[in-house]
Amino acid sequence: MAKTRRSSATMTQPTNRERLCGVFGESYDPEAWSDWRWQMRHRLTRLEHFEAFLRLTDGERRGLTMGAERFAVSVTPHFAALMNPFDPSCPIRRQVVPSSDEFTVSRGDMEDPCGEDHASAVEGLVHRYPDRVLLLALDTCASYCRYCTRSRLVSQGSLDPLPRRMDAILDYLRAHTEVRDVLLSGGDPLLMSDDRLDTLLGSLREIEHIELLRIGSRVPGFLPQRITPELVAVLRRHRVWLSLHFSHPLELTPEVAAACDLLADGGIPLGSQTVLLHGVNDDAAVLKQLFHGLVKNRVRPYYLYQADPVVGTSHLRTSIEKGLEIMSQLRGHTSGYAVPTYVVDAPGGGGKIPIQPETIVGREGETWQLKNWAGKVYTYIDPPAAG
Ligand SMILES: *Cc1c(COP(=O)(O)O)cnc(C)c1O
Repeated sequence: MAKTRRSSATMTQPTNRERLCGVFGESYDPEAWSDWRWQMRHRLTRLEHFEAFLRLTDGERRGLTMGAERFAVSVTPHFAALMNPFDPSCPIRRQVVPSSDEFTVSRGDMEDPCGEDHASAVEGLVHRYPDRVLLLALDTCASYCRYCTRSRLVSQGSLDPLPRRMDAILDYLRAHTEVRDVLLSGGDPLLMSDDRLDTLLGSLREIEHIELLRIGSRVPGFLPQRITPELVAVLRRHRVWLSLHFSHPLELTPEVAAACDLLADGGIPLGSQTVLLHGVNDDAAVLKQLFHGLVKNRVRPYYLYQADPVVGTSHLRTSIEKGLEIMSQLRGHTSGYAVPTYVVDAPGGGGKIPIQPETIVGREGETWQLKNWAGKVYTYIDPPAAG
């Protein structure tokens, strides 16, 4: 493709991509842009980076100056390019650009809302449910979500490198024959090199009672360039299920669609998780568009999470009432495959609790009154009791 030179006389606005490359004194090169290592090296991490790309509010400037000590700031150029540089209420921007609202501590806020530190069997291994464990593989991500439930760990360098913890983790898993499902999260496991991931998955696969390996990752959304045929081959070899993370339909770009295609064509079952966020996606029409887009990309919406009460995130959270109202506008109104389960991860470590709008409106013995999606009530009568 021939490059057209923009003379200062024919003024078209530079694109976000061009402006982002400009932040680092480079010009936009599609080949560099599509290289995930280039993306990682050109992440926006400092006030000057953001200042050069966005028209910042005072609150954002304070957040970037003071907030980064508490919880690192980092945004891939791919994700930053989706932002509106002139609108601080942009749903992409709200997710990853800190603001002074993070300094507000609200009632019920906790450092470790899901009580993971107490449920840690060995460092970085949370064994909460009978048959499955959460393995925190590493503590870095491609970009940092301001509502992160694990901001106490992630980006803090507080997890020992995995190779140093691996023997203890494998010993635990070998001894606990009830564990049939290992969920790798972090941090983002897909930031590991193909070789390291291959080794990790291989050592887990050697344990006979482990049937299911799954990875939770926001890399396909933050850094779709990382989804290469070589990575897909590793995931496929170890029969991994993948849970992606998306918040807003704007995230479903052509690059993301191509990454999902590579994964789905490679035989990787794809689910997604979404956190309900105030001013980002607390709107039935926005979520419906997101879930439809995901299904179109062969990604099954798995969970919609009530946001965890992490310290300094109340400006990004909304009420359970709002979540229930949104769910009642989805269930029955669209494909069941496009409707995730709405859950609250119980503060204090109770695990995920599904909640849904009331559908059982009355019961007398074997007679049930059930409300359908359109609000009409129907009667179901149980079969005569056995015995
Ligand atoms: C979410 C989670 C799991 C997996 O739960 P599923 O409902 O099976 O997806 C496992 N362990 C921990 C600690 C979790 O938070």
